[in-house]
Amino acid sequence: MSETEAATGSDVRSGGCLCGKVRFTVTGPVDDPHICACKHCAKRSGSPFQWWVGFPMPGLEWTGAEPTWFDTHPGKTARGFCPDCGSHIAARDHGDDTVIGILATALDHHDTDPALVPTNLNRLPEAAPWLAQAG
Ligand SMILES: [Zn+2]
Ligand SMILES: [Zn+2]
Repeated sequence: MSETEAATGSDVRSGGCLCGKVRFTVTGPVDDPHICACKHCAKRSGSPFQWWVGFPMPGLEWTGAEPTWFDTHPGKTARGFCPDCGSHIAARDHGDDTVIGILATALDHHDTDPALVPTNLNRLPEAAPWLAQAG
């Protein structure tokens, strides 16, 4: 990221849940956009996989309500969702203040943001062998 980009705010992204209760902005470079088809992602989402992207934790701001956090790995990993509409929003590791995991689908412009295109399809064939495999 250049100084100019920082000054113009071009690396700021906004997002939120379906009902609008949870809102946030993230600032900074995209880290490791990927698909995950682990059992937790599939079970919680009701979908074969979830689309994750990391951002610097210091650039995260909750501009609406903060998600409700549920420990999927007690004491290790928590996942955040809207308590009203159930939208999946985020994940974080306890004790790690450097990265926040955001579900790309929670971002307002995920469908038109080339920086979010997944570069890893973690374990996708396990979850959905019928799905066309990219890459
Ligand atoms: Zn909501
Ligand atoms: Zn997963």
